[in-house]
Amino acid sequence: KHLSKVAIMTDFENDFTVIKELGNGAFGTVYLVECIDTSEMFAVKSISKQNVTANHVNLTNLMNEIKLIRKLDHPNIVKLHYVYESSTHIYLVIDYVEGGNLFSRIIKRKVYNEKIAAKFTEKLLGVLSYLSSLDIAHRDLKLENILMVSEENDYDFKLADFGLAAEVTEGLHLRCGSPGYIAPEVLRKCYYGSKVDVFSAGVILYILLCGKMPFPGNNIQDILLRNRDCKISFSRESWKNVSKLATALVLKLTEPVANFRPSAKEALSDPWFEHQLNFALPQL
Ligand code: ADP
Ligand code: MG
Repeated sequence: KHLSKVAIMTDFENDFTVIKELGNGAFGTVYLVECIDTSEMFAVKSISKQNVTANHVNLTNLMNEIKLIRKLDHPNIVKLHYVYESSTHIYLVIDYVEGGNLFSRIIKRKVYNEKIAAKFTEKLLGVLSYLSSLDIAHRDLKLENILMVSEENDYDFKLADFGLAAEVTEGLHLRCGSPGYIAPEVLRKCYYGSKVDVFSAGVILYILLCGKMPFPGNNIQDILLRNRDCKISFSRESWKNVSKLATALVLKLTEPVANFRPSAKEALSDPWFEHQLNFALPQL
């Protein structure tokens, strides 16, 4: 039997065996599965149609997203292989990424040293630059949606969860994302574009360098208010050991005014990368 890369198939259960649960999120559950024909391992995101309609995201939107994700081909983005639909669920069969998400990784490591943080951030901005060249905004960049390739290193990853991704048009204005990572223009109900992802990348870099969230709060309302007002503190003990260049890049990426914020491509030529990735080589 031939699995189709383009058609939406039925009978998911006939083609895959579920091994175990990998994670749970807003729209569904992710399982590790084995392809019955080839013994290949995949992750499958099972989305309940009922949940989709309950969350006011209709099925047509979901299908549009699937079309959009299928266009993506990048070493740091999980690949969507197959799509199944049953009467109750949609199943997205994607690459299985073995190293757990970046949230668990940073809990283990507490903080990243600057060289590893620079290696990681350079790759992340590379993905964002690729997405923005295709006029796609991810809109939910956060630790849980970044999957680590292995336990061996802390910078190889694949970006996952395109559930909120959208084609960038003149009229993007839906307030969405995760509290603590959202660009202020989204929270201020402005029209916005690809630079919302650059802001979230800045939040992620902040967390990698100091191990804390830049917009802490006791409840979602608290977090959203700080997030909207974009007041970031560098006064914690852990920032004393962070270089001026690294701190400066966090500030550039989390610039509150989108027009003054660099694009992902522009941010890639930040001097911090040059300094960490080239100058820091041992002298011969
Ligand atoms: P949601 O839209 O529900 O947030 P995600 O796609 O973010 O779903 O997946 C939720 C969690 O499941 C992730 O944080 C991760 O831990 C795990 N997961 C998701 N996709 C994969 C994958 N391809 N390989 C391994 N684990 C995954
Ligand atoms: Mg997610």
